[in-house]
Amino acid sequence: MRRKRDSSRGDPAYRDLARQRIVLLYRMAVEAARRGDVGYARDLGGLAWEMYRSTRARIPRWLKRGLCRRCHAPLIPGVTARVRLRSQGRRFSYVTVTCLACGWTRRYPYKTGDRPAPGGAAENAGKPEEEG
Ligand SMILES: [Zn+2]
Repeated sequence: MRRKRDSSRGDPAYRDLARQRIVLLYRMAVEAARRGDVGYARDLGGLAWEMYRSTRARIPRWLKRGLCRRCHAPLIPGVTARVRLRSQGRRFSYVTVTCLACGWTRRYPYKTGDRPAPGGAAENAGKPEEEG
């Protein structure tokens, strides 16, 4: 499939296409990592990240958080990432995500407690959907 038009990077259709590709690359990266092929997973993750950066496509937050910013490995809890919950006082807690491939660590604070959001926990929906 080759198209002649190449100068359409900024338009919404292109961004949408880019987003789909990013998600696809990320899924492939996750599969590769689960097979144990972390090197390949990093390559795919790197491609996904490059595409995200160059197109500014809108990608879901779980995907943004699901890639190591340093080595671009997909962060899968229990496989390529260690996820820990820490609490700090009563109102604030944070999630610590450590990339097991390169040791990169990131903390994501989240509010706990006093007001349960109506209609679900959209606030804390930063988790990748792949589980178990
Ligand atoms: Zn890493």
